Amino acid sequence: MSANMSNRARWLAMVAIPFLLLTGFTGQAAGVIPPTGRLPIAPSTFHTYASLVSELRNLSRDHPSLLTVTLIGSSWETTQGLANRSLFAAEVHVPGGTKRDILFMGLHHADEWISLEVVVYLLRYVLLNAGNDSRVDAILARANLWFVPLVNPDGFEYARLNDSTWRKNRHDNGDGTFGVDLNRNYGYMWGSGGFGTSTSDPEYRGPGPFSEPESQAIRDLAVAHPPVLSLSYHSAGQWVLYPWSYTRLPTPDDDRLSNFAVEMADANGYRVLQEGRATHVNPGNSDDWLYATLGTAPFTFEVGLDFNSQNAPSIGAVVRNNANRPCADPRWPSASGTGGSIWVESRLRP
Ligand SMILES: [Zn+2]
Repeated sequence: MSANMSNRARWLAMVAIPFLLLTGFTGQAAGVIPPTGRLPIAPSTFHTYASLVSELRNLSRDHPSLLTVTLIGSSWETTQGLANRSLFAAEVHVPGGTKRDILFMGLHHADEWISLEVVVYLLRYVLLNAGNDSRVDAILARANLWFVPLVNPDGFEYARLNDSTWRKNRHDNGDGTFGVDLNRNYGYMWGSGGFGTSTSDPEYRGPGPFSEPESQAIRDLAVAHPPVLSLSYHSAGQWVLYPWSYTRLPTPDDDRLSNFAVEMADANGYRVLQEGRATHVNPGNSDDWLYATLGTAPFTFEVGLDFNSQNAPSIGAVVRNNANRPCADPRWPSASGTGGSIWVESRLRP
């Protein structure tokens, strides 16, 4: 789940998930809708920071009119002169019309490697099929798509090279501990209920809301281009999650958010759950802040069958499954006025 946590918490999650199924918090897994476009060849190994930078450079060279890659921030170690790593946003846009902004994010958590692969694959899918597939063209006629595949570059490299269980960024907390959980650092209800105060906690919230350059970069991008819809990829468990995360109580838009989550889950066979009703409440995540501050309809996808999100042979199956949504359904990100999609035309709160 979004808390990839200690072993203790993992066991709690493994116990809690079947319980949640029994209590009925599931979306109906109806028929999966496959995408109509050509699927890119799926990777069989994980990216590195360097190979991601190289791929983004190549894609923007190959699709100069469609794709703009911008640097949106730096990692914590980079701000300290300890590394040279950036956060990148890849924007896919076609000219003309009034566009909404849609935001895709991967790898807030350093150990959830598959989440980066899903976002890169979606980017490649859109680029491969733009101009050749009516569903992709329908999406691009209505939306600018922003892809931030790697929110946590320092943590990712540390997890790849030193400790595959590492979750947080690499902020030196000054007391012998390292790291802030970037998905507990956003500024809405940050640290609510005294959550994540200990620097050694895998879910340490940080010294203040938006204390980290990585969460600041996402905040600034989202404020500059407020998304009507955002999908934040994490791992694992095959869930579509929606706010609130900081509380078990529903949002004022619970009907619309839950209906749309069910609709999305129908396209890829995932189950649906309000984030705050998972193993424990998680204040300070990106979804709560995006919804509360910008009126975004924000969703977290927990991708992959199990907690092993670093299993290279499974990359292909996971990324293809996640191409079903958003790449398959002609109603997405809106259009016909059917079902739960129509409200994604505008932000929930101005
Ligand atoms: Zn996560």
